[in-house]
Amino acid sequence: MQKIINEIKLDFNDVLIVPQRSTLTSRSDINLERSFNFYHSPRTWSGIPIICANMSFCSFDMAKSLAKHKMIACLHKYHNVNQLVDYFKSHPENLPYTFVSIGYKKSDLNHLLEFKEQTGLQPNICIDVPNGHMDVFVKYCRKVRDSFSESIIIAGNVTNTSSTQELLIYGGVDIVKTGIGGGSACTTRFLTGCGIPQLSCVMENSYVAHGLQNGAKKLGLICSDGGHKTVGDICKALCAGSDFVMLGGYFAGSDPCDGEWQYELNNKTKFTYYGMSTHHAQELYEDNIKNYRASEGTKITVSYKGSIDKVAQELLGGIRSCCCYIGAGDIKHMSKCSQFCKVNQIHNNQNPVLGV
Ligand code: 5GP
Repeated sequence: MQKIINEIKLDFNDVLIVPQRSTLTSRSDINLERSFNFYHSPRTWSGIPIICANMSFCSFDMAKSLAKHKMIACLHKYHNVNQLVDYFKSHPENLPYTFVSIGYKKSDLNHLLEFKEQTGLQPNICIDVPNGHMDVFVKYCRKVRDSFSESIIIAGNVTNTSSTQELLIYGGVDIVKTGIGGGSACTTRFLTGCGIPQLSCVMENSYVAHGLQNGAKKLGLICSDGGHKTVGDICKALCAGSDFVMLGGYFAGSDPCDGEWQYELNNKTKFTYYGMSTHHAQELYEDNIKNYRASEGTKITVSYKGSIDKVAQELLGGIRSCCCYIGAGDIKHMSKCSQFCKVNQIHNNQNPVLGV
């Protein structure tokens, strides 16, 4: 193995999407819904391929709000079985858009099995661990797949293309979550020195995932997770080949967030959220803090952002506009229609105002 990879890996800030000639006449013609078949799951999914991360604020209100827009919410993994049963019984229509999250604990899988026994349902599943490169993780995902043959399974996180292939082929995973160290509440790069810039990570992993087929139109898929700070970054991830994009901080501070709000005169003003690997999150949800684990995350306070409708309008409006600039009639064609140019950092800053 070469000790240093000499090619510079790129992040969203290192590029811009080059505008292209377009035959489109109006942004309203752009179709933001996609339909997917999966490598393992026999289900077909249609909707807008944006996912709210399974962070502490992603609970049932978020899931209901996003389902109205045909977007996905991965519930945080600390809901108990009764809460999940109540939710899915009262909102069966949200099943395609609400994923149940689990980590790598025996009790997590047992919760899912109990849920299945009580409801007869196989929910879509998000298997989330900080480091999905470990062999035991692939085996664990396979175990979940063996009990949930119908579910759409998203799992990660990894950056390494061979791990993506392994999770898809042997782990029974449908969508591999790629990205390490880029998340808004993540301190992994500072604490461990590990990570890969997200744009290159998406390009490399989507290339290998899409190269895998398990029958007609059953490709491997990926989800870009972590570090999308603007709608422009989300557009860049889609143009780079990501099938889904997972967002944490982007949704934090919107109305349906569950957690720590600040108010002034009864109006929401600020919202605080925590990285899921912080000691704070461990204290809130785990029975005991593991003394061999450092806090690989931080606490962030953001301003109130308003309703999900407002946040979604900005998000979807931006993606629509990007499609127009590159001549893509829908999200599916964004990666085919786009080209990036490398830029220096000045091009990603707010444009200056003349005379200020
Ligand atoms: P964001 O959209 O906020 O930039 O990134 C969201 C992603 O950050 C999550 O989906 C998850 O992968 C990652 N993340 C969330 N909490 C933590 C944490 O405490 N530590 C690390 N390393 N990553 C986190």
